[in-house]
Amino acid sequence: MKILLIDKDNPIPAGYKPVLEEVEHGYYMEKNAARCMKKLLEAARKDGITIEVFSAYRTYDYQQKLFDDDVQWNMSEGLSYEEAYKKTASSIALPGRSEHNAGLAADLKGDDWDCDNWYNFEKTSTFKWLEKNAPRFGFIIRYPKDKTQITNFIYEPWHFRYVGCPHAEIITRKGITLKEYLELCNCKFK
Ligand SMILES: [Zn+2]
Repeated sequence: MKILLIDKDNPIPAGYKPVLEEVEHGYYMEKNAARCMKKLLEAARKDGITIEVFSAYRTYDYQQKLFDDDVQWNMSEGLSYEEAYKKTASSIALPGRSEHNAGLAADLKGDDWDCDNWYNFEKTSTFKWLEKNAPRFGFIIRYPKDKTQITNFIYEPWHFRYVGCPHAEIITRKGITLKEYLELCNCKFK
């Protein structure tokens, strides 16, 4: 399996069309990612942890809408268009540059989710379970707290990227980002 690096500089290759499969409640992922996510959710439930998907595959149109709505919101807070655009771009990817558009990422939360401060997620038992167990199902925390300079993206403890096994376990054990990992094994997808 080729691992796709998707970020501001590396858009999803033209012609890439994920075969989608439902994870649950109308949330879809690329079929291998979906199957592993289902196993992850099931394993968590067995451990008494209820994890909910709140975003998974997104169409390009929906991605554009999320981006535009956030720019509008930032402008309503008093920023100029340029400032608003820049702020939005640090937290929401443009269409074709989001792992969600490839069906390879899911945003996860638990019943201990704090709507007012998403960053409190890192303090929850749901997050602690995911931090420990997600890699064995092929998922990594794609935007770690101490790697924002490398990922060029804000810290997102809720965003999990499917890379498969054993890659997820190696990346996590080494404490590196996906980009660094792909450079290391020289299998960067071009
Ligand atoms: Zn996400």
